[in-house]
Amino acid sequence: MDPLKEPVPVMPTAHYAMGGIPTTLWGQVIKDEKNTVVPGLYAAGEAACVSLHGANRLGTNSLGDLVVFGRRAGIHAARFARDADYHELTEEHLGESRERIERIKNSTGKEKVAALRAELQQSMMDNASVFRTGELLQKQVEILKELMDRYKRISIDDKGDAYNTELVEALELGYLLEVSEALVHSALNRTESRGAHAREDYPERDDENWLKHTLAYKVEDGKVAFRYKPVVLGRFEPKARTY
Ligand SMILES: Cc1cc2nc3c(=O)[nH]c(=O)nc-3n(C[C@H](O)[C@H](O)[C@H](O)COP(=O)(O)OP(=O)(O)OC[C@H]3O[C@@H](n4cnc5c(N)ncnc54)[C@H](O)[C@@H]3O)c2cc1C
Repeated sequence: MDPLKEPVPVMPTAHYAMGGIPTTLWGQVIKDEKNTVVPGLYAAGEAACVSLHGANRLGTNSLGDLVVFGRRAGIHAARFARDADYHELTEEHLGESRERIERIKNSTGKEKVAALRAELQQSMMDNASVFRTGELLQKQVEILKELMDRYKRISIDDKGDAYNTELVEALELGYLLEVSEALVHSALNRTESRGAHAREDYPERDDENWLKHTLAYKVEDGKVAFRYKPVVLGRFEPKARTY
């Protein structure tokens, strides 16, 4: 495009996801406020919350995060793999994944993955974006319920087993919906502004009630339960970012 003739479009985009999977300092995934480790499961980088970044990642810190905690997770995972016993995958373990895949492949529903994903993206942009309000987040809770319901009626044209990218996109949409649910419910629940979470209806930071990590658990579609983990304060205590 020629900027002399027409304006260059400027669009917001995702720069960084302060991911949600809580981990130990060795990248081991933990599943509750007691730091119970899920053996053999690791996360690092944007997916993880090793709690390095506080409530808002500062520029350049993510590469440091990767180099340090990606390496530590790799070292630990290699040690774990060396000493772990080999387990057969049983029908019990495979069942849920197989059922999920078969349901999508055999569905004759009329909903299309690309259309639902576009609606999810647009509505998350409109209602759960940089500046949030309770009203908008509540609206998004309802939209997500509807999208979850419609997701049950998606169907795909490619029924094959090899390189089925349509199936992968369909599965990923399910995960995007679940992550969106965790994000929106947690943002609605946190009635304060802290770091990258900016509530226009609660503009102040509220350490008395909210100096804690939220752990979100999916109870069923549209229902999320919360538990909390204390924030470990070190030499650098949280302070307002002022200029
Ligand atoms: C424009 C921009 C500028 C940035 N500038 C800086 C900066 O100056 N300093 C800084 O510190 N950070 C910066 N960041 C952030 C930093 O680059 C990222 O946080 C970091 O690269 C994330 O690394 P990651 O390994 O967590 O994720 P990624 O690098 O996104 O790696 C995830 C990998 O998983 C793969 N993947 C995804 N889905 C699947 C699947 N289903 N199966 C298998 N593989 C899959 C992807 O292909 C990808 O290779 C910037 C980010 C952006 C977007």
